[in-house]
Parts: sequence; structure tokens; C-alpha cells
Amino acid sequence: NAETPYHYTDKRTAEKLIKLRDKFSHKGTFGHALLMAGSYGKLGAAALSGKACLRSGVGLLTMHIPSCGYDIIQISIPEAMAITDQNAKHLSEVTDLTSYSAIGIGPGVGKDAATVQVVEQLLDGINADDIKARLMIDADALNILSENRHLLDKLPENTVLTPHPKEFQRLAGESKDEFERLQIGIDFAKKHKVIICLKGANTAVIHPNGEVHFNSTGNPGMATGGTGDVLTGIVTSLLAQKYEPETAAILAVYQHGLAGDRAAEQRGQSALIASDLVEHLGW
Ligand code: AMP
Ligand code: MG
Repeated sequence: NAETPYHYTDKRTAEKLIKLRDKFSHKGTFGHALLMAGSYGKLGAAALSGKACLRSGVGLLTMHIPSCGYDIIQISIPEAMAITDQNAKHLSEVTDLTSYSAIGIGPGVGKDAATVQVVEQLLDGINADDIKARLMIDADALNILSENRHLLDKLPENTVLTPHPKEFQRLAGESKDEFERLQIGIDFAKKHKVIICLKGANTAVIHPNGEVHFNSTGNPGMATGGTGDVLTGIVTSLLAQKYEPETAAILAVYQHGLAGDRAAEQRGQSALIASDLVEHLGW
């Protein structure tokens, strides 16, 4: 409805947003994503986001991981290229950003002091060098923003943020109920000119103009570790493929929930694990 800022993403809405593949396309057509993810003991988050990114149609994927994750990533995702950080256990540096169409940071990165620096250097690098890559931020990279609030002013316009309720509370403050949380989300998205995916049942995708798109897919089987990392991969993939960030967020959230619904249909909600979502991605 054009009169209200509230929208609902159902099958028909989502399908209209999908870009079909041209017969003469090649991997360059679908972009190159960089995922900055993982730390010692949390390389699984990196692997889940990487696989989801590939399953969502990206042309090329490079994973920047701490060096302890090299074998893990190369073996678990043969389709991805790996760049190892000089630090063994957590991300501590920003690599050359010029060749990517999208960058996703957060899954499993932790909050080591060196990784806090990485988030700042990444934002500074994108702003200073006029890097064209679209950006998405999740998980501990969001918590790093919350704990280093001057970084909020450095967020490039239309960055996609995917907080779960706790992460959102740290980022934007407490709310007494869902309605207040949504309003705080709208204010935050407008103020910082970013796209916020307020994750949960019926994830709300909030655009910088205050529009809210509630998602129709998904189920409580998805309330399990790693499902958010899968969403990071999908969003980054669609951004790399040059979907407008507003569209990428809506479609990614829809497709993520759809994969969850297909997985739950096959094996039931309680047996569902994040890897199942990866296996059920696709239109
Ligand atoms: P995270 O907490 O970062 O792992 O993200 C959890 C993911 O699972 C988000 O995409 C949520 O939207 C989804 N999720 C969690 N609980 C539910 C639920 N009860 N119904 C639908 N989706 C859910
Ligand atoms: Mg998460």
C-alpha cells in the first residue's frame, strides 16, 4: 500500500524482484564478493556464510579469514578463494578492497582489539578510496559498532545491517515492546541512512526512507546457531550481483526464510540446523 510505510513480502512480491540470468552471462556478470569472517573456534560461521553466498548466485567469492582457518575453508568450500590474515586467530588487517562488488563482515569474527581496528579501517578505507563495493555488517562486527559509537558516523550510505534482537538493543537501545523496537529501528535507519534487517519471526527490513518490509517466510526451526551467518552470505551475494541494497535485503531475508521452510518441511523444525538452509537455497 503506497499510503503506509508498511509492506509485506510474499511469494509474488519476491518473485518480481528476481533478476533472471542472461544466456550470455559469465561469472564476471555476477560479481565478486569478499566475506571477512571467522576466528579461532568460529570458522564454522565463516564456512556457513561462504556456502550461502555461493548458493545465492555470486560469480566469485573470496574469504578473508584468520590463518588458522586456511585448511578449514579451502576444504569445506572448494569454490571459494581464501586470503589468510597475518594473525592466526582473528582478523587483524584489511586487504586490498578494489576488486570486490560487495563486502560482508561479521560472522564469527569476535571482538579482539585488532578486529575492532579492522572494522574502523574497513569503513575508513571504503570512504577514503571511494570503494564502490556495497557493504553489509553482521554479528560481532555490529557489536563492535555498538561499543565504538563513533564508527556509526562512518557507515557508507545504504549499508545493510542484520542485527538479532540483542544486537539491535546494543546498537540502538532498549525498547519496551516490539512496536517501540520497530520505531527505534525506523529512526536509526533514517538517521544513519542504512538498511536494517530486524531479525526474528517476520524479520522487518527497514529502508533509509522509513519503509518497513515484513517477511512472510521462516519458522521457529531457524532459532538455532548459524542461521544468521547464512543470511549474511545471501545478502552479500545479492549485493555483489548488483541488486540495489534495499532489494537485496528484502530478497535475501525472503529466500533465507524460504530455505528454512523447505528444510523444516523435509525434516521437521527441531532437527533443522543452519547447514540445511544452505542446502535448500535457490528459487
Ligand atoms: P542469528 O541469531 O544471527 O543466528 O539469526 C537467526 C536467524 O534465524 C534470523 O534470520 C532470524 O530471522 C531467524 N529466526 C530466528 N528465530 C526465528 C523464528 N522464531 N521464526 C522465524 N525465523 C527465525
Ligand atoms: Mg548472528
